[in-house]
Amino acid sequence: MKMNSTTSSKLSTRKLVKTLKSSQKISELIKWYMLKAKINEYLPWKKSAWITSSLPVELLWGLNIFPLHPENNACISGARKVSLDLIEHAESLGYSRDVCSYMKTNVGAYDKKISIRIGGIAKPDFVVTAGSICDTHVKWFQIQARRMDVPIFVFDVPHIVSGTSKSTKIRYKEYLIEQIYDFFDFVEATTGKKLNEKYVLKIWENSARLSDLWQQIYEHRKNIPSPVGYADTLGDIFPLVLLPGLKKSIKYFEDLLKEVEEYVALGKGALLKEEEKFRLMFEGIPMWYRIKFFHQLMNYGAIVTYEPYTFSFGASRPHVDNLEDGVNAMAESMLQQPYFYNLSDRIAYFKDVIKKYHIDGVLLHENMSCRPSCTGMYDLKQKIQQDLGIPVLLFTCDMTDPRAYGKEQMQTRIESFMEILEQSKSKRLDY
Ligand code: SF4
Repeated sequence: MKMNSTTSSKLSTRKLVKTLKSSQKISELIKWYMLKAKINEYLPWKKSAWITSSLPVELLWGLNIFPLHPENNACISGARKVSLDLIEHAESLGYSRDVCSYMKTNVGAYDKKISIRIGGIAKPDFVVTAGSICDTHVKWFQIQARRMDVPIFVFDVPHIVSGTSKSTKIRYKEYLIEQIYDFFDFVEATTGKKLNEKYVLKIWENSARLSDLWQQIYEHRKNIPSPVGYADTLGDIFPLVLLPGLKKSIKYFEDLLKEVEEYVALGKGALLKEEEKFRLMFEGIPMWYRIKFFHQLMNYGAIVTYEPYTFSFGASRPHVDNLEDGVNAMAESMLQQPYFYNLSDRIAYFKDVIKKYHIDGVLLHENMSCRPSCTGMYDLKQKIQQDLGIPVLLFTCDMTDPRAYGKEQMQTRIESFMEILEQSKSKRLDY
């Protein structure tokens, strides 16, 4: 197929595809959170902590500690197009180009005291981190805790790898349970905040309900046309990341689910049925400074209908009615990290999703500054193409460093990929 000028402008056009009405209300939740963060900053009896995405944020809500999330704020800086300035500030301090751009964005945002509206973050009462996803999380929080002169708690999370026996897994969980109780003591000693069992359980129950709703929304993405694309879900994960135990998050997801169900009942999709040509899976962290990429894919009739990244934030949580089971469930969730998957499990996971979500092609984001999220991508690409005959595009970018995004190069690669998808789909329809 020869590209004409209309085709070649599809990835640069400014026209954005409309997202669900309920999704648009995410800005209200974000504003509420920002306002609370701002108020907390000025009230000395309110306590806050920085937390990483590998830990259940319910740990903080349950102890009445307001969570501040450097990674989330870095995404906001990316989306607000200020991350490059912050990254360059961190690089001027000696951090290399290869270091995680979330970390560098956070260093810049904190030092420059930028507004919370564009990703600024306040000094916390303590920081809590773990090395479960990456070693960066630990070093990053250690460095920042030292610079801010605040206490740090580090969870030592063992990795379940291929061959880890059942008895070893049980020992790992017991080890984590001990650390969770140590954490409760640490918080009390640091802030004076005591564990309120009833409140912790309420938060955990709300969180379990929120995950259930997220999974139901995901189930509907199997429909053709898909009612929800990545242009929606990349904002929709906010309550799962930061507000999982709150009633207002549940209301947000209930409204979202209702709208999705209405779409499905009417046979409606994010794209019209006749427009939905290619259903895609996207692996990796999105390029936050280029959110319109996911809208513009729809100009080709392509929609991302599954992302392991957004799915992982709403992993199943058991409904519990006592503290022991709640702590047990938290320990379990800390051991279930998506990046723990060994290659064969990951391939099996991808194959399952490709089948269930009727995926035509896969986009793999090889992220320049996040080693864990791009490990194994070449093997994944090869296996999926070989075993399933599904086209895979592996491209190199970065989540908050826009220097890694080559506009022209991406345009050429996406256009060729769309041609390959077209050919592959017609061949598969011939069978
Ligand atoms: S290296 Fe990757 S997983 Fe680790 S903090 Fe950075 S983005 Fe997150």
